[in-house]
Amino acid sequence: MSRVKKGLDKEDHKQDAVKSPNALSSGLTRRKFLSLSMLAGCAAIGLPAKAHAINEFKGWPGSYGMLTDLSACVGCRSCEKACNEENNMPSPERSFDDGSVFNEQRWPSAKALTVVNRYNNPGDSSGPVYRKIQCNHCLEPACATACPIHAYTKTAEGAVTYNPDLCFGCRYCVIACPFNMPAYDYESAFEPKIIKCFFCYERIKEGKLTACADACPAGALTFGRRKDILKLARKRINDNPKKYIDHIYGENEVGGTSWLYISSVPFEQLGFPTNLPSKPLIELSRGYLSTVPVIFTTFPAIFGMLYALTRHRDKESEEGHNQHKEVDNE
Ligand code: SF4
Ligand code: SF4
Ligand code: SF4
Repeated sequence: MSRVKKGLDKEDHKQDAVKSPNALSSGLTRRKFLSLSMLAGCAAIGLPAKAHAINEFKGWPGSYGMLTDLSACVGCRSCEKACNEENNMPSPERSFDDGSVFNEQRWPSAKALTVVNRYNNPGDSSGPVYRKIQCNHCLEPACATACPIHAYTKTAEGAVTYNPDLCFGCRYCVIACPFNMPAYDYESAFEPKIIKCFFCYERIKEGKLTACADACPAGALTFGRRKDILKLARKRINDNPKKYIDHIYGENEVGGTSWLYISSVPFEQLGFPTNLPSKPLIELSRGYLSTVPVIFTTFPAIFGMLYALTRHRDKESEEGHNQHKEVDNE
C-alpha cells in the first residue's frame, strides 16, 4: 500500500505547520495564556469567573483535531486494535480481524474506546461505508458542563480528559453528552469510572500522533491543528464536489468538535445526529453560569436544560439504528 499521510505537514499548510504540541501556546501571549488558565481554574474548582469572562472565552486557538475521511476508511479495524493496546484494555472476545463484528452496530463501551461500524450503501457499487466512532472532543463539552464536581477538563491541546479520582459516579456526563459517548464501567461499582477516548492525551503532549491515526493504513485519519484540519477538509470537498457531501461534520455541531468528518454518504445514513444546535450546549445555559454565585445550587436547572436538549438525540439515534437495521435487512 502506498505511503499515506497521517499528520499534516508544511506542504498542507505552509504557514502553520504542526510539529509539536509544545508550540501550542506560541500564538498566545503569556498574559493571555495565564488569564485563560485562571478562567479554566475557576471552573475547575467550581468558582464562577466574573460574569463577563465566560462570554469572552473563544476556545483554544491552537488546539488539535482529527479528520476522519469516511470515504477512505476500509474497515480494517487497525485503529481499534491500536487503541486497545495503547490503553491496555483486555483482549476482545472476537479478534480484530473477525469480520463478523460488522453484522451488528456496536458502540464505544467500557471494553472499547473506539469501534468501527459498517453501513451498507445501496446506491453505490463501490461498497459499504465504515465509520469509526469515539468521543468527538467538543470545543465546549457538555460532559464537562454537566459534571458537578468538574472531573472533566477541556485541555489546551483539544483533548477532553477526565479525572477518576474526582468522579463520584453520578453519570450526569453520560446523559448530557449529545453524542452518547461516555461509558460507565459497571464492573468497578465501588470505584466509579467513566471510560471514553481521551485523544491519546499523553501521546499528543509528547508530539506524537494518536495511536489510532498512527495505525491507520488507509489515510482515513489525519491529525493536526484543528484549524488546518478544517482547511484540509474544505479543500478535499472543493476539489471533489461530486465525491463528498458538502458538509464538515463537527465544524459547527454543538459549537464545534475537535474530531471532524467528511463523507461521500449523507451523515444521517451513518447514524450521526444531524439536528444538533450549532451553539454549544453550555452557551444555552450560560445565563445561569454567569449570574449565580454557587454552581451547585443551580446545577439541577442546568442539568435539566442539557437533558431536554439531548433527549431528542436518543430518539434520533434509536430511529437511526432502526433505519440501519432496515437497510441491512434489504
Ligand atoms: S463527545 Fe460527549 S464525552 Fe466527548 S467531549 Fe463531547 S460531550 Fe464530552
Ligand atoms: S485517540 Fe487514542 S484513545 Fe482515542 S480512539 Fe484514538 S487511539 Fe483510542
Ligand atoms: S485503521 Fe483506518 S482504515 Fe482501518 S478501520 Fe480504522 S479508520 Fe478505517
